[in-house]
Amino acid sequence: MTDTRTALIFSSLFGSYSYGEDHPFKLQRYHVARELMEAYGLLKLPGMEIRDCQPVADDLVLTFHDPDYIDRLKEFSASSEPRADFRFGLGDADCPVFQGLYDCAALGAGATFEAARLVEEEGFQTAFNLAGGWHHAHRAKASGFSYLNDAVLAINWLVARGRRVVYLDIDAHHGDGVQEAFYDSDRVLTISLHESGIYFFPGTGFEDEIGEGRGKGYSVNVPLLAHTDDALYMKAFDEVAYPLIAAYNPDIIVTQIGADTFRSDPLTRLEITTNSYSYIMRKLKALKIPWVALGGGGYDLLNTARAWSIAWAEMNGIKLDPHLPDSFIRKIAPLGYPHRSLLDAMHWSDDQERNLALDAVEKSIATLKKTVFPGILGIQGRSTRE
Ligand SMILES: [Zn+2]
Repeated sequence: MTDTRTALIFSSLFGSYSYGEDHPFKLQRYHVARELMEAYGLLKLPGMEIRDCQPVADDLVLTFHDPDYIDRLKEFSASSEPRADFRFGLGDADCPVFQGLYDCAALGAGATFEAARLVEEEGFQTAFNLAGGWHHAHRAKASGFSYLNDAVLAINWLVARGRRVVYLDIDAHHGDGVQEAFYDSDRVLTISLHESGIYFFPGTGFEDEIGEGRGKGYSVNVPLLAHTDDALYMKAFDEVAYPLIAAYNPDIIVTQIGADTFRSDPLTRLEITTNSYSYIMRKLKALKIPWVALGGGGYDLLNTARAWSIAWAEMNGIKLDPHLPDSFIRKIAPLGYPHRSLLDAMHWSDDQERNLALDAVEKSIATLKKTVFPGILGIQGRSTRE
């Protein structure tokens, strides 16, 4: 019998830290998302549980991160003085140093570990940590609002238990830290759909980054041009991500489902709406592969709330009323949000930009069909637990 239990990881401490008033990353997002879920009745579904979490253990942290970097993070975290160490990427505008910084990162990573553990050890079909997806953290360097790479730590734990994993990243930014960690491994297939690094942070994630050594052919990147819209995004998912996930047939899928792809995101230039976002969630659920979902980017509070409520509803097979609950509308109005609808209208970008974006996505798909498809489709049908 397939277990269909689902878990939402939530610590009351999420949101009790701050990157600073002017920083685009607002930890308040977790509470707004949770309020929307609550207003929709999504926190009391049959078969679901809300689970608390602990900060991630040091020994798991050290399966990826450099000990000197971790010592520095802890030292800065405990200090009330302003500190910076640019060797480790600490103290710039993206990765500020603030009191409790390590506790904040370790709690998010602990929540991701708990999500992985519930799926792996307790037989949950899906577990979702909104406060995860810190995909830019490197072995010895903070980057892009990320200090500890929670996905890498949880995947390391799963791989050590003999699991084969797909990591799918649909955040607007390339999942560079996760790709790096598994670049030479065929036990983890990383797939990232993101806004092209030509002019965009972190500047990586091109089609020719396909892995090395045993990992050659197990890193997959679809760089998308600015103004890529719903139809083009779904095309990239349908023609690259979905067939590769199905062929690789992992024991567990870990997804980073940031909502900064949305057209109203202030930091990015993709033009995705709730249409392609819900479509991808439905397709992932239909795979019936045990699923660890992580939040990620999203710099418009209401987008993350809508996206993650949609994701959680899809994970539980629930259809939501497209009209936002009145109680929620009353709560967000004072924050300046005029939204009344959960769902966006389907969106097409302007012709000229769209043609360029279509051309680029078609070229990427054609390239990947030559470079990575033959290897991964070749393993289709092999037992995953031999
Ligand atoms: Zn992002």
